[in-house]
Amino acid sequence: MQSGEKTLVVGLGKSGMAVCALLLSRGAAVAATDLRARSEFNGALNDIEDAGCSLRVGSHRIEDFVNADRIVVSPGIPLDIEPLREARSRGIAIMGELEWSWRQVSLPVIAVTGTNGKTTTTALIGEMLKQAGRKPFVGGNIGTPLSQWIFSGEQADTLVLEVSSFQLDTADTFRPDIGVLLNVTEDHLDRYENFKAYTDSKMSLFRRQNCENFAVISADDPIGKNRSRQIPGKVLYFSHSDPVSNARVDGPVIKVEVPGTGNFEISLEKTRLPGLHNRENIMAASLAAACAGVRAEAIQAAVDGFDGFAHRVQWVRNWKGIDFYDDSKATNVGAVVKALEGFDRPVLLLLGGRDKLGAYEPLLAPLASRGKGVFVFGEAGPRIYAELSGKVPAALYPDLGSAFRAAVSGASPGDVVLLSPACASFDQYQSYAHRGDHFKKMATELV
Ligand code: ADP
Repeated sequence: MQSGEKTLVVGLGKSGMAVCALLLSRGAAVAATDLRARSEFNGALNDIEDAGCSLRVGSHRIEDFVNADRIVVSPGIPLDIEPLREARSRGIAIMGELEWSWRQVSLPVIAVTGTNGKTTTTALIGEMLKQAGRKPFVGGNIGTPLSQWIFSGEQADTLVLEVSSFQLDTADTFRPDIGVLLNVTEDHLDRYENFKAYTDSKMSLFRRQNCENFAVISADDPIGKNRSRQIPGKVLYFSHSDPVSNARVDGPVIKVEVPGTGNFEISLEKTRLPGLHNRENIMAASLAAACAGVRAEAIQAAVDGFDGFAHRVQWVRNWKGIDFYDDSKATNVGAVVKALEGFDRPVLLLLGGRDKLGAYEPLLAPLASRGKGVFVFGEAGPRIYAELSGKVPAALYPDLGSAFRAAVSGASPGDVVLLSPACASFDQYQSYAHRGDHFKKMATELV
């Protein structure tokens, strides 16, 4: 950065604050803007303001945007707001927090994207590296933003980053040494023009890779598989069944073959991660770790010791022979399909919330074999009901509470009551965790 250049930071969440603090600590000229009123920050702006940041809160002003030399946008800021469009038309560089932060460090990067499984796989790769005695920073779109970690001054030897499509859309030089694309199914159609635009965004993870870099892709995912020919890096595949993939499930083990590092097997006997989808996550993580030089013993130790996260096909309790599972983090249809495929007994499915505008039709196949009933609720309820009723047993309820009570009264010993809603939570809850906690509370209070 040339001295005297002015950076505008848009959005003062965790990552925006960290970008401001870092730039200010280097003596750079910084302005920042956020639509929230000053009172909503509870004094959190004082430090950056005292350090000389010029603040505009409560509104955005076009002049702040067009007077900047560079704009750093926080995740979640729509890229089509008028001041950003105006700045773009004047040729001002606009980049996301990930892109900006990545330019500040020179460490090997493992980046994980995909519609589902990013958090689990990113954390698992981190555990594998730690088991190998390495010191990774694990974060990005989960936990600590990269900018915040840089500001903390902590040390690491590798960056393991969860990367969202929004972050990829605002990155024009970001290049992971090892990129992982888990899957691409419909999501965020409220934000992307169409599915192709969303797919392009995910594939852009690999766009700037060179022939030394690795790309880890699912051979079972039609999008990733078909488009992997465009990837300039070395492509490694994982699959449930494809015998020529670099990682594949073979009974109770995963067979891994990475050119240059030899072949090995990872036992699945002790893993506590449920479902077929987690086998995909374990395969992808094993390949990424092997490419980073981690040996089989460390990979195995991480797989055996990793507990996964709450609200992701998480067993809650057994009541009168009925198992309750909280999969509130399943906010799109692809995640629900995988959750259903993991059960080989009757499932009563709780589905609904704020619509992401994708098709619900992919649920019909897994529901046909194990769907005992679908209990639809929330804002998206009427659309889901219209798509599914008549094809599977479905009924419509105003909220999760009433849908839950109906599911419980229809369940028999041996059945599963599964909250895997395929929708965002914000119509009736603060977050997916809030929704999942409500489900868990109802399940634990059954007497
Ligand atoms: P993300 O960070 O991409 O949202 P998570 O690990 O938090 O991924 O999981 C989100 C949801 O997706 C959960 O419902 C989880 O059970 C499901 N899921 C996890 N891994 C996969 C996968 N490989 N394929 C499909 N669904 C998955």
